[in-house]
Amino acid sequence: MKAAVIGSGFGGLALAIRLQSAGIATTVFEARDKPGGRAYVYQDAGFTFDGGPTVITDPSALEELFALSGRRLADYVTLLPVSPFYRLCWEDGVVFDYVNDQDALDRQIAALSPPDVAGYRRFLAYSEALLQEGYVKLGAVPFLDFASMVRVAPKLVQLQSWRSVHAKVAGFIRDEHLRQAFSFHSLLVGGNPFATSSIYALIHALERRWGVWFPKGGTGALIEGMIRLLRDLGGEVQLSSPVERIELDGAGRARGVVAQGRAQAFDLVASNADVVHTYSRLLGHAPRGAQQGRKLGARRHSMSLFVIYFGLKRQHPEVRHHTVLFGPRYRELIAEIFRGPDLPGDFSLYLHAPTRTDPSLAPPGCDAFYVLAPVPHLGVADIDWSVEAPRYRDRILSYLQERCIPGLMDDLVTVRTFSPVDFRDQLNAHHGSAFSLEPLLTQSAWFRVHNRDDRIPNLYFVGAGTHPGAGVPGVIGSAKATAGLILADAGIAA
Ligand SMILES: Cc1cc2nc3c(=O)[nH]c(=O)nc-3n(C[C@H](O)[C@H](O)[C@H](O)COP(=O)(O)OP(=O)(O)OC[C@H]3O[C@@H](n4cnc5c(N)ncnc54)[C@H](O)[C@@H]3O)c2cc1C
Repeated sequence: MKAAVIGSGFGGLALAIRLQSAGIATTVFEARDKPGGRAYVYQDAGFTFDGGPTVITDPSALEELFALSGRRLADYVTLLPVSPFYRLCWEDGVVFDYVNDQDALDRQIAALSPPDVAGYRRFLAYSEALLQEGYVKLGAVPFLDFASMVRVAPKLVQLQSWRSVHAKVAGFIRDEHLRQAFSFHSLLVGGNPFATSSIYALIHALERRWGVWFPKGGTGALIEGMIRLLRDLGGEVQLSSPVERIELDGAGRARGVVAQGRAQAFDLVASNADVVHTYSRLLGHAPRGAQQGRKLGARRHSMSLFVIYFGLKRQHPEVRHHTVLFGPRYRELIAEIFRGPDLPGDFSLYLHAPTRTDPSLAPPGCDAFYVLAPVPHLGVADIDWSVEAPRYRDRILSYLQERCIPGLMDDLVTVRTFSPVDFRDQLNAHHGSAFSLEPLLTQSAWFRVHNRDDRIPNLYFVGAGTHPGAGVPGVIGSAKATAGLILADAGIAA
């Protein structure tokens, strides 16, 4: 049996490893010259920049992939613990080190708002209940029919999942800084904390339970480890091989893909590419593709990001590995990021300083960074990024220089940016969204793209647009759900 996987993001690679481990000969087709998708790696002037994911959580999900074939994750890549998980900074000078140590958390919470110590405990218990239901039990279960949704509905109602992340957090916690500290997490998977289902508040408990990790050599080293495992198992990865079309036979089944003008036959096809791109471009020639493409294209998509990767000739040991710099506004800024129509005048930033954990990512004495600002996607804001990108880059870098990296402008060795247009053109992301479909309750589980197409019985989906959604643990879970379906359909015991 032969499978084609379109796209080598975390989801595509995890699926390919699962299929290959079960004896299905799997070929991954990747459009770009390197694997990883959002986790692409740039090498500039001796600096190594991970393009996307930097906060690695739930290593047990990764370990499970390697264990399928009796191997060990640790033999392929070393995960290093990161502490604090994040340093959170506000413009009024408040700093909160989000650590995995209850006493240290209690001390910091009490310093801001004594009643919130008890409130935080209640929030953590709530987040743990969500983790158990939403991730441990359902994170790798495919929702193919409405009945599957109905079955979980009572639990979702009990956990008040129709309420937003922020509304639930605000019910437990009074202090505005702490409300932001415990609600911003849904942004990490493309969710607006004021609109996204409170289910996504589970990310907090997920980090507390399994920690925050960083691969030695960067996230790219984890992707390399997965590629090596896949190849060790006999799987194939074709880079610089954009799939142009998924071919159907007369019975409406997928019979293979066309890549670089060459048709190749497969028994099943799984797409890890953007879901709108897959239906409207790769399957646009078939009524099913055109119709689904239109439908999904009109759904709500997550915001985009503007990312600046920069290397400095000086080190800044005071800057932690992960820093969130909250700007002057929270609710209003997020509303503008999700709805447009303009680029907001202020920003909140995530700053990545990987050399704190692994100095090998920059030349000796230097520091590698990336900073990202959530920005509206191309469907809600008409921004000419060819003009705006250099201006926006300089505004953000000057802001960083003022707030936390003195001398930044003078110390720049290298700088590159990635804008919503790059998400669209380099990753085929609809509207340049950074995280695919927005994780609203009405776009989650059964309401999200199904892990197997409803009409084409051997066409599958994996990655951020499918259940359970974006984020590395999410797409690794989606690979488990999709592999389970494929193996069951093929009559292979999991
Ligand atoms: C800047 C940034 C920071 C992030 N930080 C974190 C983080 O710290 N922690 C976390 O857990 N998550 C993070 N995320 C989210 C996480 O990275 C993504 O949700 C996840 O990696 C998406 O994986 P995926 O499997 O959906 O595939 P993707 O990474 O989206 O990969 C899809 C692949 O398909 C390929 N492709 C598209 N079209 C075709 C075609 N026609 N033919 C062949 N190939 C094609 C693309 O080139 C791409 O390689 C971040 C995302 C971004 C953008």
